[in-house]
Amino acid sequence: MIINADLHIHSHYSAATSPRMDLPTLATEASKKGIPLLGTGDCLHPRWLQSIRELEERDGIFYFKPKDEGTTHATNTNFVLTVEVEDTRRVHHLLIVPSISKAEELYESFRAYSRDIDSDGRPSLRLSGAEIAERARDAEALIGPCHVFTPWTALYAYHNSLKECYGDMAGYVSFVELGLSADSSYADRIGELRDLTFLTNSDAHSPYPIRLAREFNRFQVEDVSFDELKAAIKRERGRKPVLNVGFPPQEGKYNESACIRCYTHYSLNEAITRRWRCGCGGLIKKGVRDRVNELADCDGAHPKHRPPYLHLIPLAEVIGLAVHKSPGSKAVQKLWEALLAEFGSEVTVLIDASMDSIKGAHFDSNSDDRIRVLEAIRAFRESKIRILPGGGGKYGVIELKTGASEEAQERVQETMVEYEPGREQLSLLDF
Ligand SMILES: [Zn+2]
Ligand SMILES: [Zn+2]
Repeated sequence: MIINADLHIHSHYSAATSPRMDLPTLATEASKKGIPLLGTGDCLHPRWLQSIRELEERDGIFYFKPKDEGTTHATNTNFVLTVEVEDTRRVHHLLIVPSISKAEELYESFRAYSRDIDSDGRPSLRLSGAEIAERARDAEALIGPCHVFTPWTALYAYHNSLKECYGDMAGYVSFVELGLSADSSYADRIGELRDLTFLTNSDAHSPYPIRLAREFNRFQVEDVSFDELKAAIKRERGRKPVLNVGFPPQEGKYNESACIRCYTHYSLNEAITRRWRCGCGGLIKKGVRDRVNELADCDGAHPKHRPPYLHLIPLAEVIGLAVHKSPGSKAVQKLWEALLAEFGSEVTVLIDASMDSIKGAHFDSNSDDRIRVLEAIRAFRESKIRILPGGGGKYGVIELKTGASEEAQERVQETMVEYEPGREQLSLLDF
């Protein structure tokens, strides 16, 4: 079977998260997105773990059943225990944990090294990457670095290799999470990553459809269990990732090197000459693209096992681009709900439904908007988009090649990069 999974999110017990990051809301929203397997996030937090304990468990998977059927959006969302922790160098690591008892063991072994493990769902640990990986191995948990290239709190922000971070435990690492500003065409230019599975997760701090599962993975498994997920990440017994879905890297907010105050973009050479100080006095933050160029040591040809990478943004953003309204506006919301009512989930609309069935959709809207939305979905499927790259903490700006007025096209021509996916965007129906 094929399953979509978003393995890195945070509960409301993590800092700077929405109070709505609770299990019922997450289950409902993930189901609308078309994501049946969600990481719990924060599984070392005693109170979050307590609410997970109340769910029905089978083989390391926690089944959410709404108490009052009929009042909630029907959900078939399952959870697997995950947590992000910060090491002593401020590098973030994702752990995927087999059971409640192993989560409790990890909590006990980390507790003496953390001041905030009882208060923050994403605890800071006074342990190195190697020491955390050792404890992960002892608990039979999977581990890998989070958003590995971002200029803050990430492995390649502070280290030049996996070994520098994980020492002798580097061989135990089974995946790397790419983060919003990178895709497999970036990461496969770094030799030491080529054997690892790439994960694309949302790192969502709120349950809104433009955040939850904005990136996700598609795995081939026999059934849904921790062991099957583990086999898929380790690519054993025919289980494997079959698709990574994520933002075009230029959309990420640290794609190019740019000032974190005024967002002026700089080439790597310019930034070095200026000693990473912008004309405005602000700090220039090294972009993921430049960091990858520094680290690159091979030609970037994808290894055989690497699945395709599909560049997508959330449906509400696609609709927003199409009708020139903010993704949070009432008009966009209405179109989004209408499409979901007809197709069941975002993933179906964006990836799996045939273009003909979308064309045949009779969702309720004036025909102009309808046509624009259909064209926008098609533009993404065919990679007909332009992107003004993000940097310095500001997201990139996507523009549809179709639909954009000539004047707007000219205005952006100078600064936009032509969108070239690392490999050809395959026919979406192949996945
Ligand atoms: Zn993080
Ligand atoms: Zn500046």
